[in-house]
Amino acid sequence: MLRSANEISTKFLQVKKLMPFPFRQFTTVGIGGDAPLAFFPRDFSTMIEIVSYCRKEQIPFFVLGRGSNVLASDAGFDGVVLCTHELDRVQVCDGWVDAYCGANIGKILSEVAKRGMGGLAFLAGIPASLGGAIYMNAGACGTYIESVVTEVTIFDGVSLQKINVSECNYFYKRSRFMWSNEIILGARLRLQKTGKEKALREIRDSLRVRAQLPTGKSLGCVFMNPEQVSAGYLIERSGLKGVCCGDAKISEEHANFIVNMGHATAEEYKKLIQMIKERVFSETGVVLREEIRYIGEF
Ligand SMILES: Cc1cc2nc3c(=O)[nH]c(=O)nc-3n(C[C@H](O)[C@H](O)[C@H](O)COP(=O)(O)OP(=O)(O)OC[C@H]3O[C@@H](n4cnc5c(N)ncnc54)[C@H](O)[C@@H]3O)c2cc1C
Repeated sequence: MLRSANEISTKFLQVKKLMPFPFRQFTTVGIGGDAPLAFFPRDFSTMIEIVSYCRKEQIPFFVLGRGSNVLASDAGFDGVVLCTHELDRVQVCDGWVDAYCGANIGKILSEVAKRGMGGLAFLAGIPASLGGAIYMNAGACGTYIESVVTEVTIFDGVSLQKINVSECNYFYKRSRFMWSNEIILGARLRLQKTGKEKALREIRDSLRVRAQLPTGKSLGCVFMNPEQVSAGYLIERSGLKGVCCGDAKISEEHANFIVNMGHATAEEYKKLIQMIKERVFSETGVVLREEIRYIGEF
């Protein structure tokens, strides 16, 4: 980094911070080295101030939600992490919910259901923040968050803006945010008036289906599904279920999950990813692409 973590941290004395910041404790897979400094801003203006400072001073930064789709390098990340955990306001209105980027999906669903509204049950059980879900176009069983987003509040480095869903360039597990470097501050999601009981029942049904997914420390599905076939099926067909590299293991229950059995390193995890790509290509001719995001050098 061009400036030391101490120097940067003194610019934002009032903001909650962690020095160093251990990725293994802030990612669902429990892997990764440290970053020298992480901030946990509580409001949009602080987030914007820090981002603007980092940009001006050319300090690398990374926005982290719940860390459920990121593999951090064993060497960590030489920059500032902006954790959205504390930007977690949720406001339910008649027909929509406004939430900040750090609000976790479970919290949004329960606030919405409490007020007798639904329409988001397909997101139940995804261990995401709203910002991460908007960025990744999260979803399940063929329904993605793009189908309920009406607008997203972003900071583009210059100003705060509201953009509508048609401007998000959504595709399967793809959004404009992957290329734009914009910060997602919050979003508005459309709701249906279902009544509390139906809303809760739909969430329970969704969670029941998900109960079959592998437990343990993972990043969910590592690869995107190629057209008309699931990546998990191709990995299984290539004979890779249960294969390990150190403590990283291709799940026996769902071959698109790589589970950290204890002390897996990012290097081991990445080696398995590479092995899967090579084997699936040689067995089936299909090129698999990662859904997960990488932080730091690999
Ligand atoms: C057990 C398990 C099950 C899962 N099941 C599903 C599933 O059913 N469907 C599905 O789609 N995914 C699933 N996932 C993957 C993951 O939960 C989603 O991709 C989720 O959307 C990631 O959200 P997050 O807050 O954890 O984001 P992170 O992992 O923290 O970040 C992901 C990316 O989003 C960016 N980002 C996060 N917040 C912001 C922000 N405010 N502004 C700009 N960029 C931001 C990060 O920089 C990073 O590039 C699963 C993961 C696990 C561990």
